[in-house]
Amino acid sequence: MQLTIHRGAKEIGGSCVELAHEGCRLLVDLGIPLVKPGGGEFDIGDHASADGPELVARGVLPDVGGLYKWEAPEITGVLVSHGHQDHYGFLDFIHADIPVYLSAGTASLIEITAMFSNRGRPTGRVERFEWPGRFKVGAFDITPHLVDHSCFGAFAFDIEAGGKRVIYSGDFRDHGHVGKATDMMLDRVPPGADVLLLEGTMMGRKSEHVMTEQELADEARAICSVPGRPVLVYQSGQNVSRAVSFFKAALATDRTFVLDVYSAHVLTQLGNLPGGDSLPYPGNSRYRNIRVWYPARITDRLFKDGRQDIPYSQVQFKIRKEEIAANPGAFLVFVRPGMEIDLRRMGDLTSGILIYSLWEGYRKCDRTRRFVEAAEKLGLDVRSLHTSGHATLETLQKSVTAIKPKHIIPIHTFFPDQYRSVFGATVLELKDGVPFQV
Ligand SMILES: [Zn+2]
Repeated sequence: MQLTIHRGAKEIGGSCVELAHEGCRLLVDLGIPLVKPGGGEFDIGDHASADGPELVARGVLPDVGGLYKWEAPEITGVLVSHGHQDHYGFLDFIHADIPVYLSAGTASLIEITAMFSNRGRPTGRVERFEWPGRFKVGAFDITPHLVDHSCFGAFAFDIEAGGKRVIYSGDFRDHGHVGKATDMMLDRVPPGADVLLLEGTMMGRKSEHVMTEQELADEARAICSVPGRPVLVYQSGQNVSRAVSFFKAALATDRTFVLDVYSAHVLTQLGNLPGGDSLPYPGNSRYRNIRVWYPARITDRLFKDGRQDIPYSQVQFKIRKEEIAANPGAFLVFVRPGMEIDLRRMGDLTSGILIYSLWEGYRKCDRTRRFVEAAEKLGLDVRSLHTSGHATLETLQKSVTAIKPKHIIPIHTFFPDQYRSVFGATVLELKDGVPFQV
């Protein structure tokens, strides 16, 4: 089996790996980069005028022959690990005759994201794989393993062909609410794979203390436990594991959990999939006290885009801003940039807390900065409460001990050179685009 990392050998984001055996070619992930080749934040908007072949020439799209719409299809299939855009965001460029294999959760997240960005949605055949299960793509036997990550329905893959085995870790961790899934994967994977492609997002941040999602939920509960204190939360609408943390905090302190209509839609879509029944979506018969508020701009946008079905589907759970304003300390409310006008109609928020639950780096971006400033003007104290979606060094070591690979190949990391000092001589650093014979 031949293995080529097209992108990801020395960076986080834009992951793309090719496995080839006996004329079959399998691509694993096809993500949008997060950084430019020379450094600095990657912005797809900088390439808005470029057509597909030009994007390949610029190194924006990985140079994978036989993959794209404008060439004859030669790729057997594309396998997607999870619904983060840095792993799937270029799927709309692939030839419609090439099938895409993904989990039901990933399919849902791609659909939800494409609703607003119109990007990343494959145009051809989509095959949803089952878990637990095993399936074939050409010469490849693939066993998906559910893992814990800051994304619903994230998978690692055990891929076999011609007597060789490659394990692709995807993005994973074990300190989230479904950390057990990662442990189960490590229990089930037969040791001794030929290659482990191991994500190393946290390499270079080795000393950072990483809270578990449960510890984060406990801190959120402490914030919510002050009676009468307004509590607002800014988190990614798609990070449903984080939503669970805040729901736990609201539940423990008798607060009504108030989702904005977009977050409510995401949780409802994923909540109705296998494995989603414990998610805090409105109408989940397990829970009471989940309501939905309608921010002006998002609601207008949904109507303009012809997606009024979304606000209508949540209307029985609707809470009006006036109801929040009458007693703002009785709720935990999801908010985000673009909702500044709505905040002013939520009553007296002085002495309240806005929990900022995203990566700190995003606070520098204009939209977020303006939103945080607007919240502060209303008397809200902004507190950061976040934890990583990625494996700590201890978890990486635990994984290597369980999998016992012959070679560890760094991927999804800015520090491939640090692997050897942690994992020893089994580490094999590859360069983007240079094939390795497994
Ligand atoms: Zn991810």
